[in-house]
Amino acid sequence: MDMKVAAEAGLGGPIDRYLAALHRRISEVRDGAIATYIPELAKVDPELFGIAIATVDGRVYTAGDAGVPFTIQSISKAFVYGYTLAEYGRDYVLSRIGVEPTGEAFNSIVLDEVHNRPFNPMVNAGAMAAAELIKGETPEARIATMLSALSRFAGRSLHIDDDVHRSEQATGHRNRAIAYMMLNSGMIHSPPETILDIYFRQCSVRVTCSDLAVMAATLANDGVNPLTGEVALERDYVQDILTVMNSCGMYNYAGQWSYEVGMPAKSGVSGGIIAIIPGQIGIGVFSPRLDLHGHSVRGVRVCKEISETFGLHIFRNHTNSGAVIRHELTGAVVRSKRMRAPHERERLDKEGQRIRLIEVQGGLFFGSTERLVRRVDEISVEADYIILDLRRVHDADTAAGRLLVELDTGLAERGRRLILAHMRADGRLASLHALMAAHGDGEARLFEHRDNALEWCENSLLASVADARDLTKFSLAQLDIFKGLDRDEIRVLEGMVRPMVFEAGETIVREGDEARLFFVVARGVVTVQLRIRQDGGDRVLRVASLGPGVSFGEMALIDGGRRSADIVADERAVCYGFSVEQLRETGKTHPNLLLTIMGNMMRDFSERLRRANGEIRALEQ
Ligand code: GLN
Repeated sequence: MDMKVAAEAGLGGPIDRYLAALHRRISEVRDGAIATYIPELAKVDPELFGIAIATVDGRVYTAGDAGVPFTIQSISKAFVYGYTLAEYGRDYVLSRIGVEPTGEAFNSIVLDEVHNRPFNPMVNAGAMAAAELIKGETPEARIATMLSALSRFAGRSLHIDDDVHRSEQATGHRNRAIAYMMLNSGMIHSPPETILDIYFRQCSVRVTCSDLAVMAATLANDGVNPLTGEVALERDYVQDILTVMNSCGMYNYAGQWSYEVGMPAKSGVSGGIIAIIPGQIGIGVFSPRLDLHGHSVRGVRVCKEISETFGLHIFRNHTNSGAVIRHELTGAVVRSKRMRAPHERERLDKEGQRIRLIEVQGGLFFGSTERLVRRVDEISVEADYIILDLRRVHDADTAAGRLLVELDTGLAERGRRLILAHMRADGRLASLHALMAAHGDGEARLFEHRDNALEWCENSLLASVADARDLTKFSLAQLDIFKGLDRDEIRVLEGMVRPMVFEAGETIVREGDEARLFFVVARGVVTVQLRIRQDGGDRVLRVASLGPGVSFGEMALIDGGRRSADIVADERAVCYGFSVEQLRETGKTHPNLLLTIMGNMMRDFSERLRRANGEIRALEQ
């Protein structure tokens, strides 16, 4: 294959290269013997050898004979067991089939006499007990049920190999013995031949190596088929299957396998093996020569190598709890986009420590969330408002939900507030959102954006120190922008001022308009916003909100340009408007008036710039 074709087919990637080399190397292994006790299986080409790895997002990598069909055999047991759990629930299934390893071969004639049930669903006895539970009015309907259960995992319609089925029927006397023994002791209740027929058929379902990898990846993916997106099995039952696979899937080799390979796995006598790394991949291998335990020799070698090369043993630690806190900031350094009057800014400078913002990152599970809530608890000694910014959190499990609810309750008891930002009712943190919304008093604790969370904390901090001003009662002299003007100059301004009232939602200034007035907010809150064209529609980006004492449109005094943003009243707002032109004119006769206003504006600008620089520095750390 030339390089270009290889690249287009996507065969040149690291995993493909690795698998091709692995396949080449393990092809040399010719130990073991094919199973001949089912005559039809003896006809297989012993050299066949395929490897497939499927990821939980549906990429399937293959090497060798990954597309050659063969019968699934005992690997079907894992999936039929899953079916029974979903249909009957854990308790009932456990009453009928145990979860203890036998330490014996797959076809051993040992039964758990104490509990009157087969030991586990991975040996033939347990698999037959599970086959009895497959639902359907007629034998055909039950076969159809079994096929569709397996097909959901494979993501395509699977079919039975009739020759192999007939061959098993004709020679499966040991299985008959097991079934009759179980009937004798009341472990099964229906005619053994009916159960045996379903069992032989489920063993005779044809799959390829790629199918096996996808079936395994469905288990790795919490029961959701990564190709079709279909839920093949509920998550809780996946855990049950994997547990039993881990202890019993490889029969009397399960302990050694777990020790060396460390992946829940299942094998079949035709030479297939599946292995699962939860959350990551499913592996399917096929090569017919078997070892003494009845496992594909090459299959075992392949799984062992993959596990060692990539350190995939499930008891290895693949998570890091420590990196959960990305950054900690205080409300003295980081501010919302709400522009504040100087006295409010001073307050926040002084008391902003009482607001804390923690940027959280990664996945929230028990280990990482424990670190997080431990830190929040420490901080809460000196902080009243603690915001968790969850923008960089991609997942939160039940443990995380539980710990955050406990944290919230504990903080509330001490008069502290826990605020979660970047929380949405849909998306990745939907279940955490639902949990927190249901648990709390619902009052302003969950925010879509961190800025709204910050603003809410600032507002309630400022309200708690209770000197919010209503400037409609004040004289112009008390406005910061007019600070330092003498009485005559104030009087001149009073002659010019136009008090204006805007209703909630009303646009005060429109982007692109000529700037004729500059304003000072006397009462209410207004928002500076930009309209951004996006996918044909307009999206509104909030730049800042302004409250009493803050001026806007004052840039016109300096550059006389056009409006650079929309300004909209959030609520009923009273503003003082001043004509820019008139002010400029007045400057000719009262130069000090204009100079003082400009000076005040400059001081304000430089203070904002300093604050912005400080914030950038804090965010860079
Ligand atoms: N059909 C085979 C049997 O019952 C399945 C055994 C296996 O794959 N280990 O003998």
